[in-house]
Amino acid sequence: MKKCVKCHLPETYETIEFDKNGACNICEATNKKQDIDWAKRKLLLDRIIDEHRGKYAYDCIIPFSGGKDSVFQVYYLMKEYKIKPLLVRFNHGFIRKTIQENVDKILKKLGVDFIDFTPNWKIVKKVMLESFRRKTDFCWHCHTGIYSYPIRLALMHKVPLIFYGEPQAEFNTYYDYNTDVDGLDLENEERFNMIRTLGITAEDMHGMIDTQEDPVDKRDLIPYTFPEIRELEKLNYMPVSLGSFIPWDHHKNTEVIKRELGWKIDELEGVPSKINQHGEKIECFMQGTRDYVKFLKRGYSRVSQINSFNVRNNRMTPDEAKKINEKYDGRKPPSLEIFLEYVGLTEQEFNEIVDRTVIPPHQPNYQSNEIATKTWDFDQWYREDNKKK
Ligand SMILES: [Zn+2]
Repeated sequence: MKKCVKCHLPETYETIEFDKNGACNICEATNKKQDIDWAKRKLLLDRIIDEHRGKYAYDCIIPFSGGKDSVFQVYYLMKEYKIKPLLVRFNHGFIRKTIQENVDKILKKLGVDFIDFTPNWKIVKKVMLESFRRKTDFCWHCHTGIYSYPIRLALMHKVPLIFYGEPQAEFNTYYDYNTDVDGLDLENEERFNMIRTLGITAEDMHGMIDTQEDPVDKRDLIPYTFPEIRELEKLNYMPVSLGSFIPWDHHKNTEVIKRELGWKIDELEGVPSKINQHGEKIECFMQGTRDYVKFLKRGYSRVSQINSFNVRNNRMTPDEAKKINEKYDGRKPPSLEIFLEYVGLTEQEFNEIVDRTVIPPHQPNYQSNEIATKTWDFDQWYREDNKKK
């Protein structure tokens, strides 16, 4: 497979393109970040916060998982602007212990209101299976809920300003730093449908999972639905990403929250800890399986993805990254067994579903016996079939 000469992301990476020297457009977008007038962006942020301060029940809503980005975001906004936010978590059902302990501690240290919403697990399981079958991505409930639920809550509490974390331009080029509307990284319905829903609306999803033997109430899909745009406009809603206003440095941000709030890092299934010192993706115990699907489909996984960041930020040489990627990427995660229990598939069925969506020229090897090491908290992860525990 063709890979970027710098960061080693392969041609199967979404939205990737290569220039004549063999460097990719994501590396290019990172370079562009240096051309941004951050001082001007910061003034814009000052203005937005001034316009919203003290006028509503809360100054803003912040979607808050307890992961590094949302924690940094709350810390930064509360310290720099002394704002009063409402933190909201859409709980996907797979929160790991270290993250929960971080959250409990940080909420107390900061002194802030927090709403934790956990959707119906029986619906989540159905939706996971359906979105996996159709898109080989079982995280539809999470992609949609994390974005739509805080916006629904903004409507309920009549709080127009919503802060998401880093801008999308860090990850792909559907949107880049220069095409953001007025310099803002706005979340809207078009974008929601383009990035979050995998092309399946909540209404479609209801039609897929509602059967005669096992009917599903339409209302169970509300948390995954983008609200009426007219109502949002009435509210003058303003969803923005903090990362559009200040340069986003994962390593530095993580250092800040470790030091100032005692945020603790954790292992990530399938990834050697030494490359993930910034604590990426440690919130969810299904992450290893999600990354494994990506490896089967596209021939790269979390190790390569984290290392591409490390290389772009000059924290690792391309050669070092290559060696580590080859050694660790694509090991089968122990969490796969748990996922299969949730959705009621065998590994054979799982492989057959994945095989329909493999991105050429990648060819997956389903026979590999390389197994990732269990993380310390593996035995605490919720098992659907308790007999197998
Ligand atoms: Zn690259």
